[in-house]
Amino acid sequence: MRHPEPDLPAPRRTTREWQAADAAHFLHPFTDHQALASRGVRVITRGEGIYVWDSEGHRILDAMSGLWCVNVGYGQPALVEAAARQMTQLPYYNAFFQTTTPVAVALAEKLAALAPEGFQHVFFTNSGSEANDTNLRLVRRYWDLLGQPERRVVISRENAYHGSTLAAASLGGMPDMHAQGGLPIPGIVHVGQPHQWAHRDGAARGLDADAFGRLAAQWLEDKILALGPKTVAAFIAEPVQGAGGVIVPPASYWPEVQRICDRYDILLISDEVICGFGRTGRWWGCETVGSRPDLMTFAKGVTSGYVPLGGVMVGERVARVLIERGGEFEHGFTYSGHPVACAVALANLALIEELDLVRRVREDTGPWLAERLATLRDHPLVGDVQSCGLMAAVQLAREPRTGAAFDPAHAVGMACRRHCFDGGLVMRAVGDRMIVAPPLVITRAEIDEMVGLVRQALDRTLEEAR
Ligand code: PLP
Repeated sequence: MRHPEPDLPAPRRTTREWQAADAAHFLHPFTDHQALASRGVRVITRGEGIYVWDSEGHRILDAMSGLWCVNVGYGQPALVEAAARQMTQLPYYNAFFQTTTPVAVALAEKLAALAPEGFQHVFFTNSGSEANDTNLRLVRRYWDLLGQPERRVVISRENAYHGSTLAAASLGGMPDMHAQGGLPIPGIVHVGQPHQWAHRDGAARGLDADAFGRLAAQWLEDKILALGPKTVAAFIAEPVQGAGGVIVPPASYWPEVQRICDRYDILLISDEVICGFGRTGRWWGCETVGSRPDLMTFAKGVTSGYVPLGGVMVGERVARVLIERGGEFEHGFTYSGHPVACAVALANLALIEELDLVRRVREDTGPWLAERLATLRDHPLVGDVQSCGLMAAVQLAREPRTGAAFDPAHAVGMACRRHCFDGGLVMRAVGDRMIVAPPLVITRAEIDEMVGLVRQALDRTLEEAR
């Protein structure tokens, strides 16, 4: 892959002009606009491989794959050509009213072939949020059709992120999101997450990882019993929680969760929006953790973010009921199965296979990332390091030995994120937890470069904290 020098075409506007126009008109997602205006938004103008460039010509290593999505990296001509071909032939047609398009059928077929056993059907959306809205409707419809309409509650986890629509934000467990707009909507409840570090001074005190994993699963069973098992429709969770801070659960957690879902006949929804398409070293995160979901949410990596596409893989348990007993499912989007998005997804999946990325993550780059990140454990700011495939977290601590945290008012994670940016690295901060999820095309040498930049940012953060 080419890594050209920053040879920006002469911008039609200066950075300051772009910033002023942005501040005047663009309301950004999850952004404090006053704070942004005082700092000036960063203008990203192009990308190649694992790097992006800003309007000042700075090269930045994108250790977050955009928003966990650019799995094949930037600048892949095969995806561009697939979009152009499809746009030329048939830019749009819908999948309502007894019509289909060959490209949407081909993608549905391909996804069914890639999915674990028992998944033959897909419902397309534009995003992960819409896919999780779809899940909520699907599971309620399923239980209605089975004559158990009292099964309505969906259990999720605190600190989960499942998207930003009303239903998806409710399924998520982010208090700041719930505080705005009266969320969650009724029928959605949350249990604790298998985050040993976060519980180190409480529930996890004195427990080894396995015991803590079983305890966290027990929280689910306790909730089911408190609600009454016959009122619970489904449990939704990411195999490895991403936006919550790359929380890799103890090995004992998922087998217990699966046992509990089986025992009470509760549908399991695996949100694969981040974990899907190779991120954890298997095609699906549920394959890495060993769960057997009934529904899988996907988005992001299915097109490597080149165009929007999401959906739900619907397992046969649900699909059969919906198809054989359901009549019309009153749900869908103008762009469900959009031909251009499907064409890009097919090209993207073919490229992931051609480059052997899933195996590379599992056997080569994932283990290498874990090894390199482990070298940061000696840093005076680092309390813990966790990774799974190509997603990882570096937990900052005031006193790594005891795990004592920084005063949240110091916003050490945000300071570290700023030092990353200034040093040419995009890394995300979730509180004081620094996270990475680089494009799956990253090489060992690039991982070395990335971890070097992380250490540099940690050093600068430490200097500032003193
Ligand atoms: N589910 C998970 C696990 C996610 O990480 C995200 C987005 O980050 C979503 C759902 C929502 O996806 P989208 O932003 O495409 O609506």
